[in-house]
Amino acid sequence: MDRRVFLKSATGTFCLAVADPVLRSVAAPAIPSNAVPLLFGVDYYPDQTEESLWEQDARMMAEFGVTNVRIAEFAWSFMEPAEGKYDFAWLHKSVDILRAQKMAVILGTPSAAPPPWLSQKYPEVLMVNDHGMTVSPEGRRFTCPSNKLYRQLSVAMATGMAKSFASTPGVIGWQIDNEYTLQTFGRCYCNSCRAGFQEWLRARYGSLDALNKTWGTAFWSQVYTDFSQVPVPLPSGGPPNPGMALDYYRYQSHANVASLEEQLIVLRKLCPNHFITTNNVPLLADTVNAYDLFAKVDFVSYDNYPGFASIHAQGGDSGTSLPLDLIASTIALMHDASRSIKGGKPFLVMEEQSGKAGQPTFSPQPDKGQLKLWSYQAVAHGAMGINYFRWDTARFGAEEYWHGLLNHDRAKSPGYGEVAQTIQELKGLGPVALNSSYRADVALCFDYDADWATAIQPGQPKVKYGTEVSLWYGSLWGGHIGVDIVDATQNLSRYKVLFAPLLYVVSERQARTIRDFVGNGGVFVTGFRLGAKDSGSQIVNLPLPGLLRDVMGVTLVDYVPIYSEKQGVKFSSLLSGPDAECHIWADVLKPESAGVLATYTMGDYAGQAAITKNGFGKGSAFYLGARLDPADLGRVLNIIAASAGVKPALQAASGVEVATRRAGESSWTFVLNHTSRPQSVTLEKAYKEQISGGTVSGTITLEPYGVRVLT
Ligand SMILES: [Zn+2]
Repeated sequence: MDRRVFLKSATGTFCLAVADPVLRSVAAPAIPSNAVPLLFGVDYYPDQTEESLWEQDARMMAEFGVTNVRIAEFAWSFMEPAEGKYDFAWLHKSVDILRAQKMAVILGTPSAAPPPWLSQKYPEVLMVNDHGMTVSPEGRRFTCPSNKLYRQLSVAMATGMAKSFASTPGVIGWQIDNEYTLQTFGRCYCNSCRAGFQEWLRARYGSLDALNKTWGTAFWSQVYTDFSQVPVPLPSGGPPNPGMALDYYRYQSHANVASLEEQLIVLRKLCPNHFITTNNVPLLADTVNAYDLFAKVDFVSYDNYPGFASIHAQGGDSGTSLPLDLIASTIALMHDASRSIKGGKPFLVMEEQSGKAGQPTFSPQPDKGQLKLWSYQAVAHGAMGINYFRWDTARFGAEEYWHGLLNHDRAKSPGYGEVAQTIQELKGLGPVALNSSYRADVALCFDYDADWATAIQPGQPKVKYGTEVSLWYGSLWGGHIGVDIVDATQNLSRYKVLFAPLLYVVSERQARTIRDFVGNGGVFVTGFRLGAKDSGSQIVNLPLPGLLRDVMGVTLVDYVPIYSEKQGVKFSSLLSGPDAECHIWADVLKPESAGVLATYTMGDYAGQAAITKNGFGKGSAFYLGARLDPADLGRVLNIIAASAGVKPALQAASGVEVATRRAGESSWTFVLNHTSRPQSVTLEKAYKEQISGGTVSGTITLEPYGVRVLT
């Protein structure tokens, strides 16, 4: 999946792991966040730039205000022009030139794009896509994550780099690989992956009996008598066993994580004073479990291109038109995930859009003010630094229209001055603000098992996990409520409310965590399809909603995919509002101990419960059985949040975002106008405004795409 396809999937739809014992030794050695210097840089490609321009580029970058540069993540051809023959002299020269201008360097290991000699000599490393076709070695991310030879060659390359640059002044850190998630085909189905899958299953299940029982291989005569018989889910005469398919998705994620960790071992050993990260776009449309991918690196890095959302907002190639609120909230969701994946630790934007961006087609030039707005949005949600992609615009290659800060003719781009000013302002916030925390009162569950199991069996084609998560997040974003992203297996006691849409798979651990959370006074808000499946992807042997039936105080009468027929919802006084329509899905609820907050109005289930609230222990649990349209969902979720005592940081109009970071007694409240119109915000007290240095109170007006930082 490339970036365009990703965004089409993520916003266009509206939008285990058996860790090798040896890999457990690579846990991060706890580099304190204050040891990471200010990181406001650019992504730079000396390998794609005439050497005669390197010094000029470095001087211009220094004038521009850059503190660091990321280089080399796609330069394997130059670093190892023939197998085992390394050439780092050119890269050392580039690092030295950058360092002479006081810029630090983040080096990328190049395993996302091996050179032609490698794929010619070892064609077995090529990925096989989900139709059984061997992928051509022309683009990038065309190799198999399981192939031991490719992983050895990648580790050898990383080892060569690490040995050469471990003590090189100016080098401060590493990016392993590049965007594990974003590839055209998502997952590999080759013979190496089949062998790796079988080995992984052996470790996971221990016996064939356990595997056969968990997957239910009695169906369609699939009982395996040897692990070597287990296939991968390529096209067949019918859909794959859902248990097998879910395990294969887990295995593919594991294989990618394991390949990252092999490079991590080497870099930790040879470069103990450098930080190590990897850049990705987590969550929506993700084939790699981000909680696992980032578990052992020092911090999360995220690549941020809001312009792709603009393509879809303006029609794109899908004809879809998205509301601006949804675009801004989807980007905010990705930032919140990037912060939450490592428990709230500040993250780095490794690539930030700096102009028109894309491959065969590309986004519009951001409006004046948007580049600054998007940078502040990242920092508002927990970024500690930003690298802008890219310094200059390539005149060749698949991304020759991915515009940087210099145009094709090396003149300054339309956004050059705005980004330079933004860097100066953000540096001025200082390390305390940039490393401060973000405290949210509510959490939103993102669970990869539920995501992948829903993709395997959506029930109704329009049921998409990422869409539901985006809609629920967007509802809270519109209410100016800060949100952490969790997988509902951790301690949730710091939160007032846990929102968990489409939690199709519920593990026993999640059920215990949620039961404890509600029992101790938390508010749990969930939606249709709750707990239909267990971790093995079997349908639970209990009345639905399965393991959480007592917490919810309801039993499902029926679950109903909705196609052309209509269903309506009538709200009680607590959720007061006009009758709503219910599309796509309806869970019909029979209250046991729960009270009814809404009922269905049509068909056989007219009068039966659509939304319920149950008191459980010291807390309460809400079940939204009806799949509501966005406006109704937003109203209902914000009424529930308010009833749980969740307050927005500020009252602001639609399209204006509010987010607060804190450190001790200090706070920074970011007010961000995502609209192209002036917007007014009324403050309840006087604040110091960080950018202008002045004091503000009463009603303030933000210019189009305007930003204020209130302290
Ligand atoms: Zn493979």
